Amino acid sequence: MIQVKGYGAVSKDSRLAPLGFERRDVGEADILIDILYCGVCHSDIHTVRSEWGEALYPVVPGHEIVGKVVQVGSKVSKFKVGDLAGVGVFVDSCRHCDSCKKGQEQYCEEGMSPTYNGYYRDKVTKTFGGYSSTYVVDEDYALIIPPTNQLAAIAPLLCAGITTYSPLRYAGVGKGHKVAVLGLGGLGHMAVKFAASFGAEVTMLSTSPSKEADAKKLGAHHFALSTDPEQMKQLKGKFDFILNTVAAKHDINRFIDLLKVEGKMLIVGIPPEDHSLSSGKLISKRRSIIGSMIGGIAETQEMLNYCAEHNIVSEIELIAIKDINEAYERVIRSDVKYRFVIDMKTL
Ligand code: NAP
Ligand code: ZN
Ligand code: ZN
Repeated sequence: MIQVKGYGAVSKDSRLAPLGFERRDVGEADILIDILYCGVCHSDIHTVRSEWGEALYPVVPGHEIVGKVVQVGSKVSKFKVGDLAGVGVFVDSCRHCDSCKKGQEQYCEEGMSPTYNGYYRDKVTKTFGGYSSTYVVDEDYALIIPPTNQLAAIAPLLCAGITTYSPLRYAGVGKGHKVAVLGLGGLGHMAVKFAASFGAEVTMLSTSPSKEADAKKLGAHHFALSTDPEQMKQLKGKFDFILNTVAAKHDINRFIDLLKVEGKMLIVGIPPEDHSLSSGKLISKRRSIIGSMIGGIAETQEMLNYCAEHNIVSEIELIAIKDINEAYERVIRSDVKYRFVIDMKTL
């Protein structure tokens, strides 16, 4: 086993603190990654605080991992020592169900193995995430990071990036579409960049008036304050798509109202409490709601390549690991611009 230094939580009320654990030795299909940067996703906070059900403590979060390959197993062909590699939200899946065969491992019918707070395929060995020094991962579940001098800003693509890229692609968003992005945080700011890059007319719907100038810099054509009933009234029936990234409890019916006939809400945010949905608002205009979870390995690689080609990275605040608890508080206050990334040298 490999001894690993990390940062994690031991209960739902505990602050994150240094925590040692073990990873498996490097197998024949594995690579060992020396983690350089790890993004901070709101899902990390939901998980360590048991907001989605009791977590498997101790939890070492982190699923926006980038680093350098420092060892490869004998059968590895995709990576060599010295390459950059990334790990996203899952590190294995059954590999034989219909979803896995289609390259949609995130929807594995036997359940994917999440990067942290879950189990490998043996259902016994726990996974620990990227707020740590190293990760051992099967090369099939690792991503190739195109050459870059902005590695820290690439890390959030492994979750925030693919989670917004995938539903926008699935929905066929492009030129001629009016798209609203709900919530300008880690996911939201990537959604604005992708929707604008795909050619859509993008409106940012935010609860934070202070984010208007940034939203426009990120590529939004319009900005509306979602807390202002008058502005919301003006936008009724206007959008083909709304990408909902909100992490906290909110009334989605107010936003479904903003969809055109046959408009679609793409939901990626996972508030701890379920929504209460107005059937009438869907039925009266044949609107629909589509949920979407991250993306498969092939699509994640496609997204990373797309970002490299189109010069798309995340807007980040680089932090030292000791400041992680303060960063969590700021994310909860919607005060993140627009993704925290941990510099793992500081571990
Ligand atoms: P985040 O950085 O905290 O962004 C969420 C944004 O939502 C905030 O910045 C804020 O933007 C807005 N917001 C917060 N409270 C709100 C409220 N009460 N009403 C309306 N808007 C509110 O979080 P994130 O990392 O982007 O993650 C967003 C959600 O997606 C989380 O629930 C996370 O777990 C989930 N997630 C899902 C997937 C997936 O595969 N589906 C993957 C990753 C994350 P404004 O200030 O602009 O209002
Ligand atoms: Zn995430
Ligand atoms: Zn499967």
